[in-house]
Amino acid sequence: MNLILLEPGDIQSPAMSQSPFGNSSGDEHSEQPPIRAQLRDRRFQHVVEVHRADVGDKLKVGLLDGKIGEARVVERGESHITLEATFHRAPPPPLPLTLILALPRPKMLKRTIQHATALGVKKLYLINAYRVEKSYWQSPWLAQDKLREQCLLGLEQAVDTTLPHIELRKRFKPFVEDELPSIASDSLKLVAHPVTDAPCPVDIQQQTTLAVGPEGGFIPYEVEKLQEAGFAPVHLGPRILRVETALPVLMSRLFPGR
Ligand code: SAM
Repeated sequence: MNLILLEPGDIQSPAMSQSPFGNSSGDEHSEQPPIRAQLRDRRFQHVVEVHRADVGDKLKVGLLDGKIGEARVVERGESHITLEATFHRAPPPPLPLTLILALPRPKMLKRTIQHATALGVKKLYLINAYRVEKSYWQSPWLAQDKLREQCLLGLEQAVDTTLPHIELRKRFKPFVEDELPSIASDSLKLVAHPVTDAPCPVDIQQQTTLAVGPEGGFIPYEVEKLQEAGFAPVHLGPRILRVETALPVLMSRLFPGR
């Protein structure tokens, strides 16, 4: 946890009517007055057990969907810790990317959501594909609160505060035919596919929509449907990578240093 993320429910003062939340797009230099926040959950455990923080120590904090700053520990109890925090800088910019990801198996889903979030993905569609097992859609890890938990872990890892927006689409064809054209309009459209001649481009400066297949890959019909929607198949070299490995390789190729 490289960043302690504070949520509205943690804030003790100022009153929530003066809440600093939702101010990430504000003036970079206009510092909010300090806020007091109390932590009791796994963040308390982490701050105490990993950071070994005590009164007077400083921690890096962020406001969920807001700015990043610094907090001082002002009180440490048996089951809570109180921080006084100020915020002064914006979170890292989002990747100019919409990710269309065939639903991974539940165990991999958690890691994939964390990695995608840590890499800066802010818009993600989890979609069905022929080689996505039907049972994956029953996973409790697809509940919004569970997805949110994984996103929070990714944000804490990457020192970011902006939650990604995740949507589920259980039917491939209607999604690709009816929705994808407007989702991907005015963007570079790519589908990561090992069996193609075109290498994945490097250092893209434009908004991009990227489709990534399931563990078994997209079937030819699905690649054709994506191509009809304007998606160009691109490869990452001769090695076939797991989805969780392919994602960081794709991101670092498309958006190096971002
Ligand atoms: N046998 C499958 C195939 O040939 O498509 C392998 C699928 S791979 C494990 C899962 C997904 O990761 C692929 O559908 C693709 O989106 C992405 N991927 C993995 N390795 C890749 C590579 N070398 N080039 C492009 N995409 C890759």
